[in-house]
Amino acid sequence: MATAHGEVETPAFMPVGTQGAVKAVTHRDLEDLGVQILLGNTYHLYLRPGDDLIARRGGLHTFIGWTKPILTDSGGYQVFSLAARRTIDEQGAHFRSHLDGSAHSLTPEKAVDIQAQLGSDIAMVLDECLAHPATADAVRASMQRTLRWACRARDRFLALRDRLVPGVVVSNPGQAQFGIVQGGVFPDLREESACQTVEIGFEAYAIGGLSVGEPTEVMYDVASRTTACLPEDRPRYLMGTGTPEDLVESVARGIDLFDCVLPTRNARNGQLFTSEGRINIKNARYAEDDRPADPHCGCYTCRTASRAYLRHLFAVNEINAATLNTLHNLHFYLDTLQRIRDAIAFGRFESFRLSFHQSLSRQPHDS
Ligand SMILES: [Zn+2]
Repeated sequence: MATAHGEVETPAFMPVGTQGAVKAVTHRDLEDLGVQILLGNTYHLYLRPGDDLIARRGGLHTFIGWTKPILTDSGGYQVFSLAARRTIDEQGAHFRSHLDGSAHSLTPEKAVDIQAQLGSDIAMVLDECLAHPATADAVRASMQRTLRWACRARDRFLALRDRLVPGVVVSNPGQAQFGIVQGGVFPDLREESACQTVEIGFEAYAIGGLSVGEPTEVMYDVASRTTACLPEDRPRYLMGTGTPEDLVESVARGIDLFDCVLPTRNARNGQLFTSEGRINIKNARYAEDDRPADPHCGCYTCRTASRAYLRHLFAVNEINAATLNTLHNLHFYLDTLQRIRDAIAFGRFESFRLSFHQSLSRQPHDS
């Protein structure tokens, strides 16, 4: 995948850098881990420090000191999940900041403008996020509104590209815009959404509204039915997914791009992803366990720290616990994607997929 800040080997995983940083680790750590592309959250950056301030510094890359590709979300997901007193109408989402109660509106156009000022390499359109489960009628109405919003977002994006919108700084003229397929767990709605989103015409396409509580098999089924409706020569991005098993299964169904807070958030809660399943470093059984978190892992944490030490750091609330656990979990995710890319390149993805699942199921996971 080619972007204004370089190429990304796919399938790829994007660590979540919510506030312009991945929690507990530095950009230097991310580069050492081989991170190719970072995700930034538009809602948070818009509220603090503000997209105007970031645009005056030349955009997000310059402001945070990251020279590789960045994808920004539309801000919609956080408005739907974090903001107070939100109302949604045809115009957009109206809400109060979770920080100071100030009133804001996020319209499809405004989401494009903010991301233009941030200057990410990939901007996402504003879509409506429905809670699962929802009735087919509610999902259809929401999916159709998302399509109308996608048309408005594309018009605005093209107007900005042609410098037709005064007052908005285009920090990255090479920015791409991705459309988002909605439609819940209903195959016919997903197909309709995919066809009409492709008809609007974006640089690439994402699948939204999954990983929201539906059974795993349903998510896999929707992903494979949706990728079948998307152009083969464009990356497909499955938003907000998932576990290491989900990544392998989604690649098998044609997905190229992932983001998820699981490796970083769970690291800060003491949960480590390993080649033999998940371990919870808080457990008493690790108090005198001198083995590394994952005996098959070559990351900095596994080369230098024992489970006993990691458990101690977590128990005393040492800030290093979050850093070391995050380094390991991100390494595990990025290494899994690297092994997937290698397996695809050598034509042995199916055997990789089988041995990956066998390895994970060999031992019971910690709770
Ligand atoms: Zn490790």
